[in-house]
Amino acid sequence: MTQDRCAFCDGILGVTSRETIEHFRPKAGFPELAFAWPNLFPACDFCQAQKQRNGDWDEGLLPPDEAGYRFSRFFYCDPDTGEINPNPAASEADQKRAKVTTRLFGLNTKKRRKSRRREWRRYRRAKGAVQIDDLDCRFFVEALVA
Ligand SMILES: [Zn+2]
Repeated sequence: MTQDRCAFCDGILGVTSRETIEHFRPKAGFPELAFAWPNLFPACDFCQAQKQRNGDWDEGLLPPDEAGYRFSRFFYCDPDTGEINPNPAASEADQKRAKVTTRLFGLNTKKRRKSRRREWRRYRRAKGAVQIDDLDCRFFVEALVA
């Protein structure tokens, strides 16, 4: 389903991080969903730890399989900083969802911003010799070349 990627940060599981199973709606608040497939996503241990540390749940959190989801609808990528930010052209509600998702999963930590800048440089320097599917955080480069 996620092509061996973390469903939240798109990191390559087992290479850049340990693979875990994330309960999108936390077990503590939603025990009835503890074993429900639609609530379970492959995730890296970093995303999972960040989510637990940053509050674990918010109704606005974006599920990775939301119908009609498009990254660019919610997010804007900054190639200079490596940050992902709410798309300024999105509705106020969508910007709020982007913000809470970024915060809970720690998507703009220093390590992640640095990694995205590195992958963007790597892609540009390769001039077609590196495929987007070979990169960590594919969505970031995809959004910048679109
Ligand atoms: Zn992750």
